[in-house]
Amino acid sequence: MLSITALSDTNKSRSNCSQRMDKITTIKGFKDILPDETGKWQYIEENARRIFACFGFSEIRTPILERTELFKRSIGESTDIVEKEMYTFTDRGDESLTLRPEATASVIRAYIEHALYAKDNIAKLYTIGPMFRRERPQKGRYRQFHQINAEALGIEDPRIDAELILMLTHFLDQVGLSEVALEINSLGCIRCRSDFKKSIVTFLKGKEKDLCEDCRRRITTNPLRVFDCKVQTCAEIIKDAPGLLDFICTECSDHFEKVKDSLQLFNIPFRINPKMVRGLDYYTKTAFEVTTNLLGAQNAIAGGGRYDALVKHLGGPDVAGIGFAIGFERLLALVSMKDKQFSDVPQLFIAALGEAAQKKAFVFCNRLKLKGIPSEMDYTGKSLKSQMKRADKLESLYVLILGDKEIAENSAELRNMRKSTQETVELDRIEEIVIRKIQEG
Ligand code: AMP
Repeated sequence: MLSITALSDTNKSRSNCSQRMDKITTIKGFKDILPDETGKWQYIEENARRIFACFGFSEIRTPILERTELFKRSIGESTDIVEKEMYTFTDRGDESLTLRPEATASVIRAYIEHALYAKDNIAKLYTIGPMFRRERPQKGRYRQFHQINAEALGIEDPRIDAELILMLTHFLDQVGLSEVALEINSLGCIRCRSDFKKSIVTFLKGKEKDLCEDCRRRITTNPLRVFDCKVQTCAEIIKDAPGLLDFICTECSDHFEKVKDSLQLFNIPFRINPKMVRGLDYYTKTAFEVTTNLLGAQNAIAGGGRYDALVKHLGGPDVAGIGFAIGFERLLALVSMKDKQFSDVPQLFIAALGEAAQKKAFVFCNRLKLKGIPSEMDYTGKSLKSQMKRADKLESLYVLILGDKEIAENSAELRNMRKSTQETVELDRIEEIVIRKIQEG
């Protein structure tokens, strides 16, 4: 047992301690999603799950931490993501690990590791979760952000490219976002891209001095990446560069034509942007991006494309693939949630006055919860007025007013908060009456 002096010493040191303690806050570019926001997140997620399931997609969840090698090999060593943005560290076992900067690589790793291709030659997978990139934080750009990803594996047919874009635009429309622009391009296959690379190198010859240091290096390592350089002078130069579409082979060109035809079948408007290359090395053939002019600088909501060589490149079979990623935070910033009720309000609030009433209320309130009826009560024994205030704040549909006097009389007052009506109900039948009333609305 503590003596009184020891106790007061403890209190003293506790108060000294609390004076010295600094608040610990989130890391720059990371943010909390607070309870009054999570309803919106759930609303978007529910829509994604419902719509993607209609298109035959199943959920996959992969770890957020992977071997660094996975991202280097898939996204590409000379991309901005791998060169500058990954959260990479050596763990206590001396292994280089990375917080995933995107989901496709992890999904494909899991697809290969668990031989999902052996169970079905077609796999349609989606995943929702956090990604990590150490970019410069600004409005709409975070270091931890969330994506909704969908990947279709095992289908070469160009109709699946259009179907995936249809699923994406339909989903955006269903959550209330129809003012978007779709841009598409074909990045060709490995073979036709090599001619394109040569022509870019020729184009950039003599312009080296006006390029940033990274792009000068990229001329030899990965000339395509000059297209997504964010430095103004590089962007100006690349405007006049040849476009990919002039270099794609007949097979890639046919594929692209069929994608366009299929999009037209669903009246999906699109613009061809021959300069869009996307920031990841694994894309082949179709690439697409959904943008909006409502977001300012960070105008991309979603992006994706085909990656027919990636599965093999990561050690799997020769299986075609296509996918997209939607930026969750950017989508949330755009979707109007005005008319939607997100948090579950209690159906019943019990205002209990007196010891016997509190005891009765405690049992009754929890019995209702066990029956799936959201209920709340007051635990402080405050006045009826302040309990009613709390019921109002919680937007409870009904309030049950229970006092020791009512208990003695086997009755309680049931108040309909929307209609401002009140009636006396029999306490013995309270559960049955309340449930009926709530069901009647
Ligand atoms: P990406 O994986 O780069 O193709 O990005 C797909 C989508 O994720 C983009 O269209 C954005 O909506 C979103 N996104 C990418 N990077 C960030 C970031 N740093 N912060 C917030 N959203 C992002």
